[in-house]
Amino acid sequence: MSRVKSVIVVGGGIGGLSLAALLTRRGIEVTVLERSEGIPRGIAICIWPNAVLALQAAGDAKLAHAVRDLSHRIDRAHFQLVSGRTIADVDLDVKLRSRYGMTGFGVTRAELVETLAAEAGAEAEVRHGVEVVEARRDGRVTLAGGETLKADVVVGADGVGSVVRHTVLPAEPGPDRREDSVRLTGWQGYASGVEADYPSGDIIFGPTGVAGIIPLTAGRTYWFMQAPHDRRPTGDDWNERVRRVIAATPADRVHRDNPRDLRPVRAWGRGRVTLLGDAAHCILPTVGVGACMAMEDAAVLTLALGSHDDPEHALRAYEAERYPRVHRVFRRGRAAQRIQRLDPAIRDRFVTTVPPALIEHVFLSSTLPLPRFAGRLD
Ligand SMILES: Cc1cc2nc3c(=O)[nH]c(=O)nc-3n(C[C@H](O)[C@H](O)[C@H](O)COP(=O)(O)OP(=O)(O)OC[C@H]3O[C@@H](n4cnc5c(N)ncnc54)[C@H](O)[C@@H]3O)c2cc1C
Repeated sequence: MSRVKSVIVVGGGIGGLSLAALLTRRGIEVTVLERSEGIPRGIAICIWPNAVLALQAAGDAKLAHAVRDLSHRIDRAHFQLVSGRTIADVDLDVKLRSRYGMTGFGVTRAELVETLAAEAGAEAEVRHGVEVVEARRDGRVTLAGGETLKADVVVGADGVGSVVRHTVLPAEPGPDRREDSVRLTGWQGYASGVEADYPSGDIIFGPTGVAGIIPLTAGRTYWFMQAPHDRRPTGDDWNERVRRVIAATPADRVHRDNPRDLRPVRAWGRGRVTLLGDAAHCILPTVGVGACMAMEDAAVLTLALGSHDDPEHALRAYEAERYPRVHRVFRRGRAAQRIQRLDPAIRDRFVTTVPPALIEHVFLSSTLPLPRFAGRLD
């Protein structure tokens, strides 16, 4: 049984709060230090069986259901050209629900973060408006005001520009100083009362890249689009569904994205400090699974802390287990980006020559549970 009694989690995003919800279930004292005062940046994401089943395996069915119940289920994933021509139409009911008890689903970031915080419960102390400026290998962190806190283990879940990563791995530059970090520009938003009952998640290859339309709960519809930042997209050069959803989106529900990626390194922690989620391995949204990987991280880390006496051994075992998985998915994100950024005419010729079964296989492979978490949603 682990000797870990206390954990400081830097960053109260999806990864940090998933970890908090799992650790408090094991009686570990958790302090979450979150820089922002309020609702997370960004609009919505899709969550897949790999993430929910990881939470169930390392936590319990209540946590998995709390996350799943935020969802509007998606029965199909329909990949298409802007002309309407189908590239692949994946029956998620058959491929996912029949095996795992769920498909994928769209959820707002705000509702997901609130739910994870509630699941972490009163046993977790979540402090907002607190910026960490340094993490040390012995388990101490320093806050912007000079206060120092200490725990048995520190987890940097502080996103792609991670301060924890910078201070424990000073030789590994973050995305701002890495020439090989890929950057994209995009937009997302959600509308209410339009296309609400559509049962499919649509991925559309169009004039400025790729766009998606995903149903959410309560009659809301999420959209995202790769497009330049100089003006809000209208969807006019896309299909009618994209145009209608964007036209119905009020200005305060539109968000400009600046996604970038960060190649994972092996053994991404030192001493009593490790990393989780985007801080360790930021994956391009071209595959749309970065948050699910953060939730998987949280589950693997929780189980490692429970099965090693020595906290440092637990952290190194977690990093060694996660590296091959996230590195593979990171490379998938890059490969998808190389295809998506091609000239649209060349890209469309290419994607229509790829067998639909191959597109389906590549798409599903990042969404399936790890063998150790395979099972059904109870
Ligand atoms: C356009 C887009 C679409 C996406 N779609 C999907 C999708 O459909 N499915 C999916 O699974 N993933 C998706 N992703 C990826 C997903 O958003 C990220 O992988 C996920 O948010 C990572 O969670 P995280 O907790 O690791 O980091 P973050 O969400 O970045 O959270 C980090 C937290 O740390 C806090 N913080 C930062 N620095 C400090 C500090 N010094 N002190 C204290 N707190 C700090 C931040 O305020 C933040 O709250 C998408 C990403 C983008 C950009």
